[in-house]
Amino acid sequence: MKIESHLAQIGSVQEPVTGAVSFPVYQATAFRHPKLGQSTGFDYARTKSPTRAVLEEAAAKLESGDAGFACSSGMAALQTIFAYFSQGDHLIVSLDLYGGTYRLLERIMSRFGVTASYVDTNDIDGMSSLLQPNTKAVLIETPTNPLMMITDLERVCSWAKSRGLLTIVDNTLLTPYLQRPIELGADIVIHSATKYLGGHNDVLAGLIITKGEELSKEMAILHNSIGAVLGPQDSWLLMRGMKTLALRMERHQYNATKIAEYLLEHPAIDDVYYPALPHHPGHDVQNKQSSGNTGIFSFRLKDARYIEPILRHIKLIAFAESLGGVESLMTYPAVQTHADIPEEIRKAVGVDDRLLRFSVGIEHVDDLIEDLEQALREAKQEIEEQ
Ligand SMILES: *Cc1c(COP(=O)(O)O)cnc(C)c1O
Repeated sequence: MKIESHLAQIGSVQEPVTGAVSFPVYQATAFRHPKLGQSTGFDYARTKSPTRAVLEEAAAKLESGDAGFACSSGMAALQTIFAYFSQGDHLIVSLDLYGGTYRLLERIMSRFGVTASYVDTNDIDGMSSLLQPNTKAVLIETPTNPLMMITDLERVCSWAKSRGLLTIVDNTLLTPYLQRPIELGADIVIHSATKYLGGHNDVLAGLIITKGEELSKEMAILHNSIGAVLGPQDSWLLMRGMKTLALRMERHQYNATKIAEYLLEHPAIDDVYYPALPHHPGHDVQNKQSSGNTGIFSFRLKDARYIEPILRHIKLIAFAESLGGVESLMTYPAVQTHADIPEEIRKAVGVDDRLLRFSVGIEHVDDLIEDLEQALREAKQEIEEQ
């Protein structure tokens, strides 16, 4: 069966009592035991909960993994994964990293003796030079956010495997509809399901998918012990969102490509960072390892004075901090999502004061271009009048 059908059918035809087409929300934390030594498979909701279990099974299947774990947020999922490591362990991590992941590693995990080195994960020599005897894993975002740098997953996973390292991939931006890292050799996939999987800017959630029996068992212990699990209502809401993932991703990438092409030609724009564009350095690798493009991209203005008036004048597009929802959002990474990353690292990867990130929604593309056009026009006029 194709992935579109799996997505549409999440939670359907599984409810045995009534045949409800939408899987019910089991709002229960305790489950009656038939008798001593027997269980229905559910004991206490932190360990396993019926609505969440349907979501977790679907997540594992969609990502070609062996087990799925639903968490209360993407950060909770990352914390659960990081708890797999021990004092003295070292990780190699994508340089252009989600700000919250950087903060978790540097402010919290560092206090527990888990250290990280940041590098362009497409640079095998650079990664080799960072290897320490205590290096345990590589954590990759591809595409990165906001600069959309692409890592060749097959290449890096096989490099990591040959050195006994685990590969962890944050697949938030592409989702299993477009890219399945485990099929390319990864061991663990993590999602901020708050973004495209949920898709409607209304549910905060995270997912972990593991490959391999031992790793899956260990992750189940961590998930249950830490307890940052997703509740039944949010599990249901996430599944409801995921049913339309395929349709949404098609429209997101169609709109994003049209708008990226429009902005690239605009005289106020210096460059557009979107792997669907042929001039993007990761274009070929992206085409090789995924079946399409995400719905977000970044663009750099020629003049930083444009930023403030653009953010004030956009009307249909909201100035807000997130991505992956049906509504279009514009973010200013230097002061919002990436404020926790030190300036020298930010500048080194190119997150400067002229960069905007655009999470393109599923509105009509003509309306989005019109909104951008009027905001750019107003901004130009204000700058000329200064
Ligand atoms: C948002 C995001 C996270 C964190 O997820 P939350 O659901 O906000 O906790 C992690 N990684 C990436 C790539 C993200 O975009």
